[in-house]
Amino acid sequence: MEERLGRVRVVLVGTTHPGNIGSAARAMKAMGVTDLVLVAPERFPHADATALASGADDLLAGARVVEDLAAAIRDCVWVVGTSARLRTHSVPVLGPADAAGQALGNAAEGPVALVFGREHSGLTNAELDHCNAFVQIPTVPDFSSLNLAGSVQVMTYALRMAALNGEAPALSGAEPTGVERDPPATQAEMEGLFRHFEQALTTIDVLDPDNPRHLMRRLRHLYLRAGLSASEVRMLRGILTHTERGR
Ligand code: SAH
Repeated sequence: MEERLGRVRVVLVGTTHPGNIGSAARAMKAMGVTDLVLVAPERFPHADATALASGADDLLAGARVVEDLAAAIRDCVWVVGTSARLRTHSVPVLGPADAAGQALGNAAEGPVALVFGREHSGLTNAELDHCNAFVQIPTVPDFSSLNLAGSVQVMTYALRMAALNGEAPALSGAEPTGVERDPPATQAEMEGLFRHFEQALTTIDVLDPDNPRHLMRRLRHLYLRAGLSASEVRMLRGILTHTERGR
């Protein structure tokens, strides 16, 4: 089960302080989680990142830097967003242990991602709209915001505990249908589905192209929560193609 930790990606979005990137790398390495992706960090590489990594330099050297969250998670089959405060509850909000167990279960099928936000402002709504689930580390209610690297430590510790205890429940979506398991959809396939929905619903005048946000967000939450398989995405896209044609 420990090898599944190698399929768990830590994604840090818009990190301001390079020291936090180093501390996060150190936290990860000690727990056996090694895949680090940085989305538009303010300063990286940086001496403070290297200093605070204290020997986890290999993780920093291997870290990939990408421009936006979509690029960081394209190949992932399950994405969990972390937040100190959650305004929307349209996908499940999990505790660290449940999130870790589900992450390891889903890691049997492909890469999974844990997404962490900016020090000052967290993740944007648009970023949260990529997630299949959220995780909130339980704190006292009136002091809920942890340091970024502290949050990475809590979550990677939970992952390690789940791996050592062999806890990995069945995939949250895409249940097996027979001998062959229907593989879960990747984020890139889900984004293709959402673009297709937007286009088809515009064609049939259900969606106002000048104001698509609300309906599209609700559709995103519905389908991300459902945990679709790749073949279910193909089925829905087939229906959308016929819907666009009007027959
Ligand atoms: N003021 C920001 C706090 C950001 S803290 C906000 O309101 O979101 C930086 C990052 O650390 C967060 O984006 C999240 O990824 C993580 N984090 C901090 N506290 C957390 C908590 N209690 N549970 C889950 N993640 C947390």
